[in-house]
Amino acid sequence: MSEEISEACGVFGVISASERSIFRIMYWGLLSLNHRGQQSYGFTSLDNGVFHSEEDLNLIPTDPRTVEKLEASLKGRMGISNARYATSGGNGITQLEGGKQPLVISDSNRTLALSYNGNIVNASALRSELSEQSGPFSTDADTEVLCRRLLGDLEEFRGDYRKAIGHVLDTVEGAYSCMVLDSSNNSFHAFRDVQGIRPYCFGKLDDVIAFCSESPALDINNFQGLDYVRPGELISVDGRGNLSRFQIREAKPAMCSFEFAYFSRPDSILNGTDRPVYKIRERLAHSLAETYKEKLGQIDLIISMPETADDAAYGMHEATGIPWERVVRKNRYVTRRAFISQNGERDDVIDKKVNIVSKIVEGKNLALVEDSIVRGDTSAANIKKLRKSGAKSIHLFVSFPKIAYPCLYGVDMATYGELIGSKFSAEEIATKIGADSVNYQTEEGLIRAIGLGDNSLCMACVNGQYPTEIAREIVQHNGHENSKEKISKRVYER
Ligand code: SF4
Repeated sequence: MSEEISEACGVFGVISASERSIFRIMYWGLLSLNHRGQQSYGFTSLDNGVFHSEEDLNLIPTDPRTVEKLEASLKGRMGISNARYATSGGNGITQLEGGKQPLVISDSNRTLALSYNGNIVNASALRSELSEQSGPFSTDADTEVLCRRLLGDLEEFRGDYRKAIGHVLDTVEGAYSCMVLDSSNNSFHAFRDVQGIRPYCFGKLDDVIAFCSESPALDINNFQGLDYVRPGELISVDGRGNLSRFQIREAKPAMCSFEFAYFSRPDSILNGTDRPVYKIRERLAHSLAETYKEKLGQIDLIISMPETADDAAYGMHEATGIPWERVVRKNRYVTRRAFISQNGERDDVIDKKVNIVSKIVEGKNLALVEDSIVRGDTSAANIKKLRKSGAKSIHLFVSFPKIAYPCLYGVDMATYGELIGSKFSAEEIATKIGADSVNYQTEEGLIRAIGLGDNSLCMACVNGQYPTEIAREIVQHNGHENSKEKISKRVYER
């Protein structure tokens, strides 16, 4: 995708049963998940009942002095971490500071540190309920909602994690791949919503166990035995590294299909699929090639906008035999910050960031492969550039189906206003963005390429069929109105 849609966090947690320092494992693991959140990062370690935390806004640091300071501070044999993108609360500095994870929070019995990936759909209602019970909140992030719910439930069930997590799963709706450290007994706990919307896996290296959002964070640390936290499951690990698994509630799997098409790393293996994500992206393109056989008969050249759609473009080349050329190249040193002060300067940044080798595209009928269209503005800017470079015709092939509904589960497309697909047909979108045609993936093609079956996937942003009840009510209630006020706010924060 050329529009850089963001996710709500990557998580990495580690428990060592020996004296082995956990910081380096946690650092490399979280760094490999930085694509899932770039607004803030945080590490919390637990050292014999004492928490140490380091966090800041921005990307995970890579300069040696800062990293050495982190290592010196983060002592202990258990740690959790988070790379965050906010899909709840505001985006001002104060709110982002308050939303940094892991969140460390106490009551009279215990202190918990919590890090999670996802989004709580009923956060507003829970916030009101919990503030009545135990006083005002100190942040506007839904992490505090989840943390306070868990603390309250642990108190009610006298520290019984199975019962407490059962109540969390029954009352907190949304996506949450969650990890918790408990200083009262030096324990680690991983749990996941019953739909298992966001990815969550774990692996082992000798006497070390690590849990994280995506498998490359384990690969990079040479961990073995990739396994998954199941939807509705609690996995607890004590200070000696003993791991216990409990299926707390029945799984109702609805894994985010967008993770496969766009969001996850191409080298991830998600949720027990038998192939890496990049192979699934190639299969998505095979399906497009099958669906649009006739139209592809007129194409001279396949191109992709840089990086994220390359695997799909290769898949289309593989399926059709049409040449694929990487004629579009990105200058990674052009950032949004330079000279950005006015509306409309976004196009200018794209113009300076992306270069096209005109000599190759001149006079050609192009298949431009994209992984998805959200707002459509970047596609429009890219197509304009391709036209200037002399392309004869530009047909857009999109490996994810048309996105027409907001996401309530942690991908930052939560307003109708930003979704071009909520208002226009493929033909109208083609006219708006200046393409000769827009050709979307079918729902069946998406399901087939992922290979998990249609009963195991969330495709709510495509077909409006939300896998959770309150989400269905929110969307129905807030409707698909055209009032400016309604379409500009996240649907779950109205
Ligand atoms: S609505 Fe779309 S982006 Fe959100 S979880 Fe479902 S499939 Fe993923």
